[in-house]
Amino acid sequence: MSDLAIDRVETVLLDVPLRRAHRFARASMDAQPVLLVRLSTAGGVTGVGEGVVPGGPWWGGESVETMQVLIERYMAPILLGRAVDDIEAIGRDIQDVVANNLYAKTAVEVALHDAWARSLGVPVHTLLGGLARRSIPVTWALGTEPAPVVIEEALGKLEAGAHHTFKLKMGAQDPDADVERVLTIAEKLAGAAGLRVDVNARWDRLTALTQLPRLAEAGIELVEQPVPGPETETLAELTRGLRTAVMADESLRTPTDALRLAKLGAADIYSLKTTKSGGLRASKAIAEIAAAADVPCHAGTSIETGIGTAASLQLACAAPAVTWGSELFGPLLMREDILTTPLRYANGELHLPEGPGLGVELDPAAVRAFTRS
Ligand SMILES: [Mg+2]
Repeated sequence: MSDLAIDRVETVLLDVPLRRAHRFARASMDAQPVLLVRLSTAGGVTGVGEGVVPGGPWWGGESVETMQVLIERYMAPILLGRAVDDIEAIGRDIQDVVANNLYAKTAVEVALHDAWARSLGVPVHTLLGGLARRSIPVTWALGTEPAPVVIEEALGKLEAGAHHTFKLKMGAQDPDADVERVLTIAEKLAGAAGLRVDVNARWDRLTALTQLPRLAEAGIELVEQPVPGPETETLAELTRGLRTAVMADESLRTPTDALRLAKLGAADIYSLKTTKSGGLRASKAIAEIAAAADVPCHAGTSIETGIGTAASLQLACAAPAVTWGSELFGPLLMREDILTTPLRYANGELHLPEGPGLGVELDPAAVRAFTRS
């Protein structure tokens, strides 16, 4: 058996407590469920990947529980005995057995890259073509709470010098009241911070046509996914008509989606997420389509721990098109880190760790503490 052959596939479910509840339009969480996938090779190397969705299956239909079943029952038999550098063929074989479920596939695909890179003694970004940057700006996401709560949190972050831009979650209430809330926040933070909003696909076309100009007027610099994912023509119409940048997130999961968005001119910016796209290689392909279409990318998050965040960071640093910063704040939202050495955030940026593979190590005690019983 080759040193690179996979001889063990293991999954573990964690619930990692958050510092504060994180609210989306229709979901809220005070702990982030995470599925860790560990692949061991005959050569004694272990690779880790993370399966994670933002607060439950509302975003893409998957949960950590569905991922665990699919990986253990359907993907592990494909993985066992295969070499960790056989990634493209393994991906094709998994696709023959499991459709969709890109979050689960990401957990496996990232673990393969981590194990392969560690076997070679190189960082994951080397496998992706090398570095375009060594750090990336990090915006902070503010929840759907009332304006005074959000303003207080934002001012605290600004004072600490931790973040210079904020993303406001919208869509939890009536659009008029929600926009009023954002206008109040924008007025308070004007000149001090860049403000972006994420509607998480909650508005219909007419609501978006009515409300988005009000947000643009107030100086909101970016509007993320105002309308449902499949409505790419509407997204294109909004992008053409609005003087604020429009970012695609729910509309963009695969390289095919990226090509369709590019043809339609449907968005000014693409949200790149390793998690929603099936892993590092598909995300890199999306970034390359974006570059060819002259569309900048933003490194998005599904609220990953240090493992998933390190994977997204390796990709963001290896993809020249990611010029619109990131929201890779996941570990900062968690009450405790699951890494032996936390990722380094400084001066509003997340810095690439040194070292082989993802460049980070799991802390066994933290993993034990948060393992779901
Ligand atoms: Mg989003």
